[in-house]
Amino acid sequence: QTAKPIEDTIFGKIARKEIKIDLLHEDDQCVAFHDISKQAPTHFLVIPKEPIPQLSACTALHEKLLGHLLIVATQVAKTQGLADDGYRLVVNNGRDACQSVYHLHVHVLGGRQLEWPPG
Ligand code: 5GP
Repeated sequence: QTAKPIEDTIFGKIARKEIKIDLLHEDDQCVAFHDISKQAPTHFLVIPKEPIPQLSACTALHEKLLGHLLIVATQVAKTQGLADDGYRLVVNNGRDACQSVYHLHVHVLGGRQLEWPPG
């Protein structure tokens, strides 16, 4: 058996479709799917297919991909009915931000009034 690449995570398996879940969106660069433990009535994640561990690992080479993730987030937010009342995008980067899955992901939360500032 070959060793798993060190960067492999549950999101890597989802992105490669080794774990079957309902996707809200898929294209050549990313997928979007509902968060398993939702923190708002609508809470989904947009992740790149490329296994980038976290935002701070990105370089200028990722500019286009990062822009794409944000555009897809807005498009899926619209199809999920969030566009009119607003919604929040969050990227937890590293320990102090409580990042738990080290595969870059953009959270999209909406469907209720969100507090600001967050805890
Ligand atoms: P983080 O804390 O790293 O920013 O967020 C990771 C998110 O991934 C959490 O909100 C958690 O609920 C979600 N999550 C973790 N494992 C799974 C999973 O297997 N499936 C889905 N759909 N979401 C997951």
